[in-house]
Amino acid sequence: MLDAAPAPLVQVRDLKMHFPIYTGIFRKHTGDVKAVDGVSFDIMAGQTLGLVGESGCGKSTVGRAMLRLYEPTAGRVVIDGDDVARMAPEALRKKRPTMQMVFQDPQASLNPRMTLAEIVSEPLDEHTDWTRDQKLERVYELMDQVGLNRRFVNRFPHEFSGGQRQRIGIARALALKPRFIVCDEPIAALDVSIQAQVVNLLEDLQEKLGLTYLFISHDLSMVRHLAQKVAVMYLGRIAELSPSKDLYRRPLHPYAEALLSAVNEPDPELAARRNRIILKGDVPSPANPPKGCNFCTRCPKVMDICRTVKPDLLEVEPGRLVACHLYPTKTAAGSTGASEAAVLKNQERNQQGETR
Ligand code: SF4
Repeated sequence: MLDAAPAPLVQVRDLKMHFPIYTGIFRKHTGDVKAVDGVSFDIMAGQTLGLVGESGCGKSTVGRAMLRLYEPTAGRVVIDGDDVARMAPEALRKKRPTMQMVFQDPQASLNPRMTLAEIVSEPLDEHTDWTRDQKLERVYELMDQVGLNRRFVNRFPHEFSGGQRQRIGIARALALKPRFIVCDEPIAALDVSIQAQVVNLLEDLQEKLGLTYLFISHDLSMVRHLAQKVAVMYLGRIAELSPSKDLYRRPLHPYAEALLSAVNEPDPELAARRNRIILKGDVPSPANPPKGCNFCTRCPKVMDICRTVKPDLLEVEPGRLVACHLYPTKTAAGSTGASEAAVLKNQERNQQGETR
């Protein structure tokens, strides 16, 4: 019998999050801010997908729409077999314990009037009928897991450092034993000296508890360290989705190439070959994206077709999906240059076949 292939715990298909624009005294609907415009990816159980891009590219909106903190405009978000995007409110409430979020700013996400014990046990109040002692026992257990001294249990958020506050946020996210966690820029608000500690903690927890992460960040070096796969987003769409080691060694999409050219490269050979690419111009408004490729107003390799035809995300090399007109003709032998939906569907079918 074949070994069971790792199955995707999370499957996102054609996710859209458009925010309507209303103008005039009659509040007429005159357009939409297309913050997320057709995003698809899988995350394997126990693995991490890094979601990177400049601020405003829609990466945090993807995370929030996946957990239904925003109501998605369209698309499917299947987490552990359930389509979260279409769940009725009561079913969604029951599903919440399995999917959680760690927020960027621990200061803002913790209620300053609540003690650590109250903050961490809040999800237990909502989803369990445990006694006070049982909840306190769980709080202590979580404090041990995230490296907080049990003596701090009755302290308030302002009595902790930034790193400790983020540990409280992580403990709260873990309280109900989730399987999937969206980490939304969890280290961006922390001192550089503390960032590595929090990332190491997230890694340890993943290993011990078998967690699956979507790690949203603009820090490409940190994502390289954590994620098996990385999706590069630009203006609401995925430009490239590749295994981490391939992307960092040889980015294929011109935007990914520019983004990575600014990252410190530890391999001296690769560093010597890398030229810094400075992009000109501003990111267009997501309320009025370019007609063709989203990146055509800034791309150093732009062609005529790019200004009129939107490129699909295609598999241009095994396991590497790129949305760029430079690539379909360079599709590797044997690969059909199939659309992302077809590629992901194929992968699903293969996995089902192997696990049968
Ligand atoms: Fe650049 Fe054209 Fe590729 Fe867009 S499709 S990234 S504009 S080359």
